[in-house]
Parts: sequence; structure tokens; C-alpha cells
Amino acid sequence: MKYAWDDKAQGAAGDDLAALVYLSNLVGGDTSLTQPGGGNSSVKRCETDLAGRATEVLRVKGSGTDMATIRATGFTGLKLPDLAYLARASDMSDEQMMQFLAAAMVDAREPAPSVETPLHSVLPYRFIVHTHDAATQTLTDNPRPAAHVREALGDEAVYIDYARPGFPLARAVARLGRPADHARGLVLGNHGLIAWGDSAKECYENLHRLINRTEAYVAERSAGARPFFAASGRSPESRRAAAQVVLPLLRRHLAQSRRQILHYDDSPEALAFAGDPRTKDLAGRGMSTPEHILRCGRIPMVIEDDLAATDPTDVARTIASSFDQFATDYRAAFARHGRGVQMLDPLPRVVILPGLGLVTAMKDKTGALLGNTCYRHVMRVMQAAEALGGFRFLDEANAFEFEYWPLELAKIQKPERELSRQVALVTGAASGIGRAIAERLAVEHAHVVLTDINEGALQDAAASIGRSCGDPQRVRAVAADATRPADAAAAVSEAVLAFGGLDILVANAGFLQAGPIDKITDEIWDRHFDVNVKGYFLVTREAIRIMKAQGEGVILFNASKGAFAPTVDNAAYASSKAAVAALGRNLAAELGPSGIRVNCLNADFVDTPLMRSLIEQRAAQRGVSAEEQQEEYRRRNLLHVGPIPTQAVAEAALFLVSPRARYTTGAALPVDGGIKEAMPR
Ligand code: ZN
Repeated sequence: MKYAWDDKAQGAAGDDLAALVYLSNLVGGDTSLTQPGGGNSSVKRCETDLAGRATEVLRVKGSGTDMATIRATGFTGLKLPDLAYLARASDMSDEQMMQFLAAAMVDAREPAPSVETPLHSVLPYRFIVHTHDAATQTLTDNPRPAAHVREALGDEAVYIDYARPGFPLARAVARLGRPADHARGLVLGNHGLIAWGDSAKECYENLHRLINRTEAYVAERSAGARPFFAASGRSPESRRAAAQVVLPLLRRHLAQSRRQILHYDDSPEALAFAGDPRTKDLAGRGMSTPEHILRCGRIPMVIEDDLAATDPTDVARTIASSFDQFATDYRAAFARHGRGVQMLDPLPRVVILPGLGLVTAMKDKTGALLGNTCYRHVMRVMQAAEALGGFRFLDEANAFEFEYWPLELAKIQKPERELSRQVALVTGAASGIGRAIAERLAVEHAHVVLTDINEGALQDAAASIGRSCGDPQRVRAVAADATRPADAAAAVSEAVLAFGGLDILVANAGFLQAGPIDKITDEIWDRHFDVNVKGYFLVTREAIRIMKAQGEGVILFNASKGAFAPTVDNAAYASSKAAVAALGRNLAAELGPSGIRVNCLNADFVDTPLMRSLIEQRAAQRGVSAEEQQEEYRRRNLLHVGPIPTQAVAEAALFLVSPRARYTTGAALPVDGGIKEAMPR
């Protein structure tokens, strides 16, 4: 562990809370010490309560905060005199404990305190920091944890066998009695490390010292350990080509009750672990700290065959039988331990694929990345612990108890937005209707891949949508010419490799250049059909390959009013859009049996760069002003409205791609102010 304390950065002298924030950020910023969301810290100090009385208060990390980014407001205050009861209580259910903690809070508006608050309250030290570091886990995830802790740390640390976090762990620690004066910390078996100090700096230095001693001890004993090694190597291109077949199939099986977003990791570390002959056995022994069970499940699923070297017709069968086996084993474990609770989906969160790497599945990309960070941490602990007598984690009963711990389950079962866990691809998304749709879908928590031929505007749109939806991880951009088959394939492949599959395709990239038919050149005619028709065909052909593998999907074509009502001096565009509408109806018929819906938007007079240029072209042809031309358009529709905002079209698009429209296919929804001639029949 690198020493990183800087006296100047810890805030003003005497400001305990500022020093605690600094300590927490320092420790939280190192993922070998705590993985995002994990670990916690606290300070005990005197505060003045709302009635003006001086009170001893425990400030402890609030639930849902992250050590790396926590601020002073993330620490919840609890009255220490009230918490004293925790050291004497002999039993307390989770519900009673949370009720008890809520009643001890100094301000009910603060975040709920960490479930490890009782542990912080029973330890008689001012500053406390708790890590899930690899070194400590290596020291205890083996058959002789107490002996290794003694040899590595002597009497500078106390060791305690695993007890479930929350009240049971606090009670076990309270029963140890006051640690010896020279003890700097407490090693929690199969879990992590607690270090303490009278100041934040002393707490940090004790943590640093304990981890450094442990690291040196582990390094000495694991010097001859055999690193993970995969015999077969293949080019990144062929690996990713295989992953594009495998990931949608995994996603299909993982979507038993809800879809998952995948993160695919083919780094050298992931490939070495996935391909090592020891992996199946090691992975079956579980995680390295209980909290990783939340992110990575109790055990991963290991697919034993190298799917990149498997005959394509057998890939789907191999994956299906691996999921069957996993579910059978899961149900058997549930039968052994799952009394009185409802079974979770018998599905893995981590999938190990020899030859391909590691896949993690969560509700969003950030979660899947976090699962990856946690599992890679577990891999490192496994390798080192093998040299300390063999990697060994909690037994099945304890791991199962943690997996079904209601307080932890509550963290991962929050209400979600309408398009959460869905992956969408929107073409022509740098501006106009495409951009508005991409933004609307992202606000509903869809993961969105944007494409456009205009790369600069595309990058701007992606960055702006990433900001407005609050999660840039959910947004990707691929510069693409809608008429090039390779670009369509690259866009779909980005959706698969970044998020695991594709649920929603919005084909929208368009071209328009109006003019009387005798002035239309061959090139302009072809361009309309290349972009507006063939472009839709190309991207759809790629998308349905993925959707069929997943077993469902939604396609939306931007067809426009021109598809349904005759226009004047715009025959090339209108004809191409009529072809789009026909393509949509035909694909609805063809793809319905595969669970894929296809609908069209029929918009007109929408406030887009395309429309503005059409109005200018038309106004110039007629010798009127742009405003007069706009008025002409307004008079054309029944409601006399327009230009219609792009957001109104995006709202209609959201409805058609959402589960609310799950019984609708082959439809065209007008967003045009009401044009009689264009009313779909
Ligand atoms: Zn912990």
C-alpha cells in the first residue's frame, strides 16, 4: 500500500469531519483497498444537538455513499449514549437494529447509517476505517487464518472469525473485550480489516502499517505461486467476433425475469484466469469478502468449453446446458438453506468463458463494471491465497445467508425507470429527431449507441446526452455512414461489445433534397434511396441477428408524412419514405414470430435542421419568406400547429419502443398536427 497522507490536504486543524472525509477519500480511491460502494469509516466527537446540548456523536458513513467521493454530508450522526446499548444487547433482528439506529440519529433527514454502524459503535476508538483489501483477505481466505494473522501481524492486530456483518459481527467484537493498548486494528475473518487511531492520520498510518506488513508476509509466501495462465491465444479480432455471437445468447438466458447489461472483459488478466485449468475449481469456492456476493453472486458460472473454438451450431446448446446446470445447482443449494425466503433468479452475475474472458451482468453498465472490479479483486486474492494453504471462503450456509440478507438485498432492489436494462441504437442521432429520441430513451435509463455521419456533432450529442441523463457510461457514439454495410455492422457490434446486446433499434438517419422531378439528378434520386431505404435495411439486418439470438427486440422506423400523403416537388424523398413504410409493415409480418415488433413514426413539420432547410428551399422556390412558408405548413394541419418540437416526436417514439406498446406492431403513429391525407389506413 502506497503511503499517500498529506497533512495539508486533511482540512483545518481540529476539523474532525474534514479529516474523516479526507481519510475516506484517500482509502476509497484505491480499489485494492475498497471496491466502489464498499468499506466504511467513522469518527466519534462532540456535537451540539438541535436543543443546544453538547452530545457525543458517532459520525459514520451513510448507506449508499461511496468512500472515494463521500463528503461531510454523507456521514450520518448518531447519539453515542443511545448506541451504548448495542454492546450489551444479546440479540437483535435486522429490523430491530435498523429501527434502533434510526431512533438514535441526530437528524432524521440524514442518510440511513451503514449496516456496519454497530461495529463502529462498540469499538472504543475515535477514528475507524474499514477496508476490503486484498492482502487481509488473502491472510484469512485460507485454512489457517488465525495462525497467518498471528505470524504476519503479531499482537498489532486482533483476529476474529467470520460473523455476518451487522449486529452479529458487532456482538462478536463486543464480546472480545477491549483490545490491548498496542493493537492497531482488527482482522475480520473472510471479510477485511478495521484500523483505528486517535486522529485520522494515526488511523491511516495504522492501516498502512498493518496492510504493508500483511503484503510483505503474503509476498514472501507466494513468491513461487504459479500465476494464472491460459494456453490458447487468439487474435483480438477473432475473439471479439466470437464474443458477438456469445454475448446476446448469454443475455437471453440471463433475462429470466429482467434483462441485464453486460460488461465484457478480454484483458490479459481475465483471459489468463478464464483459461487456467485450476479456474473451475477455484471459482466454485466463492468470493473473497461477503459484500462481493452482492455484486458477483455467490459463485460464478464457468462455461467449460472454449466457445470461440466450438462449432457455431453447438454454441447455443453449450450455453443453454451451462445455464441449466447452474440453475440445478442453485436450486439444490436453495433447498439446503433457503427456508422462509423467496428464491432469487437462479442465475449467475459472473460468467467465465475460457478463450474469451470474463462477463459480468448487472442492471446497468456502471454496475457491470463494478462487478468486474470486484471479481478481478477476487481473482487476485484466490491466486495469492493458494500459496497460503489454498484459497477458501465462507461455507455454503454462511455465503447463502449473506446472499439473502434483506438489508443487502434492499440495496439492489430499487424501483427502476421504464427503459432500464435496455440497449438502444439510434441512427442519425447527432441532431433533430434522432438526437431528441436518443436523449429521451437515455433519460428513461436506456443504454444508447448513437450513430451519425457528422462525427463532430455526434460526439457533442453523446457528451451532452451523457450529462443530461446523469450517467455517461450509458452512452456510446459510433461515426457511421448509413449507406455502408461495414458501418452498420460496427454500430451494432458496439452495442453488443459495450452492453451485451441490442433491444431497440431506431432507424432515423435521413436525406432530403426537394425539387421538381425533372430537376432531380440520378445521384440525388439514388442518395434518397441509399440513405433512407437501404440504410434502414442495412442496420436492421445487423440488429435482427442480435434480437433473434436474444429472443426479442423492437424496431422503429422514422417514416414521415411523405410515406402516406402525396407531396409536390418532393417525390424522391416521399417515395423513399413510402418504401420505408412498406419495409416496416413487411418486417412486422416477418419478424413477429421471432418476438420482434416493428413500427413507424409518421411525423411532419418537425423543428429539425432537415425541415428548416426544406422550408427555405420551398420558400425560395415560391418566392415567399420562410415565415410565410411556415404559416402555409401550419394551415395544412388540422390543429394549425408547428413547427412541432422534436421532443413531441421523441415522446411518441418512447411509447412505441416501450413495454407499454408491447401489443403493437406494424403501426404508424402520426405526429403531424393532423393531416387528413396522411392518416394511416
Ligand atoms: Zn465490510
